[in-house]
Amino acid sequence: MASRIGVYICHCGINIAATVDSEDVARYAARLPHVTVARDYMYMCSDPGQEMIKQDIRDYDLTGVVVASCSPRMHEVTFRAVAQEEGVNPYQFEMANIREQCSWVHADRTIATQKAKELVAGVVAKAVLLEPLEEREVDVTPAALVIGGGIAGLEAALDIADAGYQVYLVERQPSLGGRMAQLNKTPRMEDAGALVLGEASRALEHPQVTVLAYSEVTNVEGYVGNFQVTVRRQPRYVDPARCTACGQCAEACVLAGQVPDEFQAGLGRRAAIYRPFPRALPATYTVDPAHCRLLVAGVCESHTGDDGPPCAAACPERAVDFGQQAEEVTLDVGTIIVATGYDPFNAQRKPEFGYGRYPGVVTALEFERLAAPDGPTGGRIVIPGTDREPQHVAFIHCVGSRDKQLGNEYCSRVCCMYTAKQATVLRDLLPDARATVFYMDVRTFTKGGEEFYDQARARGVRYRRGNPSEIYKRGDRLVLRVEDTLLRQTVEVEADMVVLAVGLEPSAAGDPAAHLLKLARTGDGFLAEAHPKMRPVDTTSAGVFLAGTCQGPKDIPDTVAQAKAAASSALIPLSRGKARIEAIVSAIDPELCAGCGLCEASCAYNALSLHPWRGVMTINPVLCKGCGACAVACPSKAITLGHFTQKQTLAMLDAMLA
Ligand SMILES: Cc1cc2nc3c(=O)[nH]c(=O)nc-3n(C[C@H](O)[C@H](O)[C@H](O)COP(=O)(O)OP(=O)(O)OC[C@H]3O[C@@H](n4cnc5c(N)ncnc54)[C@H](O)[C@@H]3O)c2cc1C
Repeated sequence: MASRIGVYICHCGINIAATVDSEDVARYAARLPHVTVARDYMYMCSDPGQEMIKQDIRDYDLTGVVVASCSPRMHEVTFRAVAQEEGVNPYQFEMANIREQCSWVHADRTIATQKAKELVAGVVAKAVLLEPLEEREVDVTPAALVIGGGIAGLEAALDIADAGYQVYLVERQPSLGGRMAQLNKTPRMEDAGALVLGEASRALEHPQVTVLAYSEVTNVEGYVGNFQVTVRRQPRYVDPARCTACGQCAEACVLAGQVPDEFQAGLGRRAAIYRPFPRALPATYTVDPAHCRLLVAGVCESHTGDDGPPCAAACPERAVDFGQQAEEVTLDVGTIIVATGYDPFNAQRKPEFGYGRYPGVVTALEFERLAAPDGPTGGRIVIPGTDREPQHVAFIHCVGSRDKQLGNEYCSRVCCMYTAKQATVLRDLLPDARATVFYMDVRTFTKGGEEFYDQARARGVRYRRGNPSEIYKRGDRLVLRVEDTLLRQTVEVEADMVVLAVGLEPSAAGDPAAHLLKLARTGDGFLAEAHPKMRPVDTTSAGVFLAGTCQGPKDIPDTVAQAKAAASSALIPLSRGKARIEAIVSAIDPELCAGCGLCEASCAYNALSLHPWRGVMTINPVLCKGCGACAVACPSKAITLGHFTQKQTLAMLDAMLA
């Protein structure tokens, strides 16, 4: 059947029409081969615009449709639906981007109009050769996996579970809560730990949530709707069903009070058998395999009798079990949410501040622990390693953020607010101590943030514009050398303690999961969303979503909001029971394929494999994402990507260059 193409040129208000003569482009298009009708209109995406296309499909029995307007990211779905409604296969629709790729990037109307004509000619030539493609659907396993048990993972898991679906929540640490559990207070002066642990407790008790703490995802296979996930459960060497968290094992441990305590940001010491913090959930002890003498050296020197090592002997419930082994469990899930969080910036990368050299220089996370009632000092602010309360505390903003030299150009978004909070907490706990904040800019964008910043200043917190260039010791005091950018002079300020407002970096622990799920990263190293504005929780891997700070720095309210958004996106396939599969996929011509495997190596989605006995490659169309890498890699030209065949592409180029 001869092609009958309808071409529609959009003005997009003046977005296109100010630079491109849309009417002239329509007149030009009308004369192109196979074009039956060509029109221009103010807004093609509007209801009347769509109705115009539908009417033409009916009147002229069109076989294909071309719209020249904005980026396909904006309205490809809209126009495909228009074509489909009138019985034209949606893949026999094609778009020419004459806005982002033409009117927005050119100033000269004559040149831009000429370029628009060439773009339209190319797309029409391609449209003539387009073939109908079939959209397919697969059944969806009604369960979700959430990786990361911080506040983001907890909120996402709870929302999905509350909607009635099974959720597996995998957390690599022995307990839930993530970084929020380490925080003393929120800027609303609520107990941050209590808030997150309330959610952890709800997750542990929820009949639809299976918490797999002290576990990591080691393999992911499958595709949206049907992922098979392997999880490795580390041995705790303690039976959680028997452990009552009485703590007698830790008291008996020969290393009691000697192992650096991660929860206290290294400021405290614990035993080699430990509960991460007094309120930690699940409420069970865990043996630290990196320090336990029995596990490291094969012998615990206090192990004398038959009762086993002292920790085991001390346990009234006989819960300590050094015979435990790692276990692997396989989970079937339909969707996956990644919530692997962030790492605080390592302040040792700013040696000029003396962190690690001067005990009085601490990170903001250490300050959180110092101020916390369950912290290493019971909530007394003292200079670490001494019993001395500071008389003057200096806070430095943007440590590891907005720093081109370090490669962290982004703003960490939470440091301005948490510094105002910490300075206020200092004034509460030590009313006679002075607090000075050194800043570049103050960005308190969060709701109520500006008011909180004003209150901090009203409470006597002093803000000085300028970031210190170095810190050194004078006697037992610290001296900050600062370029005060308001006074325009270099000043030296003495303090007893300096708090570094460390920024947020992508979590190293999240790398393996990101790698298994083939997630991309943005320039700042955080996990990349499919589109920063329109698809902020989706990834380019269908069925995989992002929640919380793994996607970029965020405070708790934004983390929770994004986690809820990720849960609702993950729920769409679960509640539909079906997931759409990409129609634009690659196909292999077995007559041409030599089975060399280069395509398999180029495929990021594991969609290609060598047929066991035919000696040629095969494609799993459900895994294929239509990226076309295999078609480019194939030296025999045996692979064709639907909708982007070589013939179509060459026809497009010929028409554009004619
Ligand atoms: C010093 C400081 C003070 C702050 N104060 C405030 C404040 O007052 N108010 C506020 O709103 N925000 C504050 N924040 C920010 C706040 O900490 C974050 O917004 C919040 O913790 C982000 O939660 P999350 O779940 O995204 O990440 P995280 O808390 O980092 O949780 C991620 C979880 O994923 C787990 N995980 C990582 N990799 C894997 C893996 N491969 N498999 C399984 N699990 C994995 C981690 O163990 C962790 O439990 C502060 C931050 C800092 C550094």
